[in-house]
Amino acid sequence: MSLSPASPTPSGRRYKLDTEVVYSESSDQYRASSVPIYQTATFKQASGTEMGEYDYTRSGNPTRTHLERHLAKIMNARRTLAVASGMSAMDVISRLLKPGDEVIAGDDLYGGTNRLLTYLATNGGITVHHVDTTKVDAVKSKVNSRTALVLLESPTNPLIKICDIPTVTKFVKATVPEAIVAVDNTMLSPMAQNPLDFGVDIVYESATKFLSGHHDIMAGVLAVNDEQIGDRLFFTINATGCGLAPFDCWLLLRGIKTLAIRFEKAQKNAQLVAEFLEERSLKVRYPGLKSHPQYDLHWSMATGAGAVLSFETGSVEISERVVESARLWGISVSFGCVNSLISMPCKMSHASIDPKVRAEREMPEDLIRLCVGIEDASDLVDDLKSALVQAGAIKA
Ligand SMILES: *Cc1c(COP(=O)(O)O)cnc(C)c1O
Repeated sequence: MSLSPASPTPSGRRYKLDTEVVYSESSDQYRASSVPIYQTATFKQASGTEMGEYDYTRSGNPTRTHLERHLAKIMNARRTLAVASGMSAMDVISRLLKPGDEVIAGDDLYGGTNRLLTYLATNGGITVHHVDTTKVDAVKSKVNSRTALVLLESPTNPLIKICDIPTVTKFVKATVPEAIVAVDNTMLSPMAQNPLDFGVDIVYESATKFLSGHHDIMAGVLAVNDEQIGDRLFFTINATGCGLAPFDCWLLLRGIKTLAIRFEKAQKNAQLVAEFLEERSLKVRYPGLKSHPQYDLHWSMATGAGAVLSFETGSVEISERVVESARLWGISVSFGCVNSLISMPCKMSHASIDPKVRAEREMPEDLIRLCVGIEDASDLVDDLKSALVQAGAIKA
């Protein structure tokens, strides 16, 4: 079943990502074009003493191996691991921690990550420092000999703030070499950013979003270059049984084949939507706009701006009306799907955060988040425009 983690071209040059996502080889006995789903929990052994490559799907399954090797090419990693969800990936990382350890994480962090870290702080004897990780000095001020994990996201969601991943990583590694730097790369996917290239230890991603692309599975991915860290992560996956199930591995493999073309279209649409909103004098947060205060920093790390943006209308009531007046834009959490979504973070995904904390983190209550899909751009803009007019946010 093995395939080489890289697919060198005849000239020795690596294929471009658009090629890598669709190209894969396997040693399937029938040369199946689509990797089979090994829907089995157990594998029979040749004898009582010789163990084959696989014995039990919690420990390993050929469909999962194929997915993990395919992802390793795409994420430029020595090893990737596929697990049950993005939060499962974060949970696996958190098992590297022990009581007394300190974690430094962002303040505009994914809600589920925030919840898991709070649980660990309450029950696991771990100290969590929430700082604005988009300010290098804020991170530096918390790094000390007990720092075990630094958790970064860029861009953040929904405030679309940019974190200087290389500078933070270099500082942490120089100060506390054994500390682990992990980056949640869900917002950009490997199509636009690859933090492993900046020397971070672990990149993880919710494959529920761009990687799978159709909002039909939950999945998570961990990518590393250090084999020892990879073994420690695999230990937890095998010990707890959170490896991705064969059928979901197959669906994810299928989704990844169209990742490049989906991401490109969604990103192009997002740029047009962002420009339309900015032209109508609304305050827009999107790294594809020159007005983004960290535009240069973003483009020093990334090759794309992604397909998630947020904007303000100036009034919570108007924002609520905009969200409810949109038709093409589905009211839903999440992103990275083929269809476009609209939401009000303070009322939905971030509602569990205390309003006082939201205010401290300068999260505007009227903020609207758009997660742009692959529809026709003019349909998306027209629909948004009529919603904005109907809600009184702009003049017709
Ligand atoms: C969705 C998401 C997660 C969690 O992933 P699940 O697959 O929903 O468990 C983590 N981080 C970010 C940035 C996300 O958007």
